[in-house]
Amino acid sequence: MSAAPVVFLDRDGTLIREREQPPRSAADVEFLGRSIEALAELRGAGLRLVMVTNQSAIARGWLRYEEFEAVQAVLREALARQGVALDATYFCPHHPSEGYAPYRRRCECRKPGDALLRRAAQEHGLDLERAWMIGDALRDLEAGARVGARGILVATGKGEREARRLEQAARAKLRLAADLRAAATLVLEDLRRAPGERQGK
Ligand SMILES: [Mg+2]
Ligand SMILES: [Zn+2]
Repeated sequence: MSAAPVVFLDRDGTLIREREQPPRSAADVEFLGRSIEALAELRGAGLRLVMVTNQSAIARGWLRYEEFEAVQAVLREALARQGVALDATYFCPHHPSEGYAPYRRRCECRKPGDALLRRAAQEHGLDLERAWMIGDALRDLEAGARVGARGILVATGKGEREARRLEQAARAKLRLAADLRAAATLVLEDLRRAPGERQGK
């Protein structure tokens, strides 16, 4: 079986609304507009979907691992109701300088680190030549760039503020999408292009 193209996907601010407190239960989960449709469309085009999320709230003691798992179950069920499944979710519970042992440590998995993306590629037979990273933070895109994925910054969550932080030249190179649905459209356009015509790689 040949390796599969993949979209790596951030969670908070990309798929669901980012809140001041980390989501702990179903009541805290609000899907961003059209985000489930976007995933369905990517799935329909044969892409693998791998969520990669930093959850330093666990290291900081703001969120218990069980609460994180409960929210993931809510996401899975909501997606399943629309006929969508993620291939996998990888998360980093660490923080380099805040919080408590054993999660307070420098790690390779916290984005912009690329350890989780590499692990996902290995465990799921992903084709990193045909990989995209969609997120609302520059560190999402940086993690993606480290494995050769093309990045798309969504303007939901922190995205708009993140884009403003960049100087003009850097901003010109950035691919910015209004939301996950618009990002999915860009991915599908890329995917349809012949490999030789692809941009940015
Ligand atoms: Mg985010
Ligand atoms: Zn980590």
